[in-house]
Amino acid sequence: MSIAENLKIVRSAISAAAVKCGRDPDSVTLVAVTKTWPASIIREVTDAGQTILGENKVQELLEKIEELPGAIQWHLIGHLQQNKVRKVIPHCALIHSVDSLDLAEQISRIAGELGGTSKVLLQVNVASDDAKFGFPVDEIRRCFASLAALPHLEIRGLMTVPPFEEDTEQVRPHFARLRELRAELSDHHLCELPELSMGMSHDFAVAIEEGATLVRIGSSLFGGR
Ligand SMILES: *Cc1c(COP(=O)(O)O)cnc(C)c1O
Repeated sequence: MSIAENLKIVRSAISAAAVKCGRDPDSVTLVAVTKTWPASIIREVTDAGQTILGENKVQELLEKIEELPGAIQWHLIGHLQQNKVRKVIPHCALIHSVDSLDLAEQISRIAGELGGTSKVLLQVNVASDDAKFGFPVDEIRRCFASLAALPHLEIRGLMTVPPFEEDTEQVRPHFARLRELRAELSDHHLCELPELSMGMSHDFAVAIEEGATLVRIGSSLFGGR
């Protein structure tokens, strides 16, 4: 199966999941996760029309931006260290993985120095999984007002990486919690949080049923890493 064919299959599965729960298929955006794959392979997916790509490591992201010029929107989906903020933000359309107030402050400060605003999502550790990054739910409640007040940060929504479960129904409650948290924060702070980044290759259909607007998909497009 070619990558172009995989892309078609994934796109129609995304549409089918949206239609099944009465959502507009255009309300779900595919982020093709290209980590570990070389530029030659990634070009197959961009040639097939996929323009939004996600990387989880800063160094790899920066290398690929150089190797793949053109109209690509790069998203950072992995943990960002504060000392790498300056390098990354000029090239990133969306950072999915803001996981502390310190990091958010740093991004806002540097975005301001560079004369812009950074679009970000707040990563939430909804499952309280020690092995995962993300704000604990209580902490995001506590510091949301401070986050929302940062002048050069545009908080577009929330993101989560739940624990892997063979049975995707086991993941559904984590996705539902992220959706409920979005509603709570957005009501309480009177702000729009339009994006929910959740769902990967094996569980994106359930994530879409629970409200995902961004699904991050790697292995269903490119194969196993
Ligand atoms: C690798 C990765 C994905 C994609 O995972 P697949 O199972 O290959 O679809 C999604 N989100 C994050 C944060 C990742 O690191």
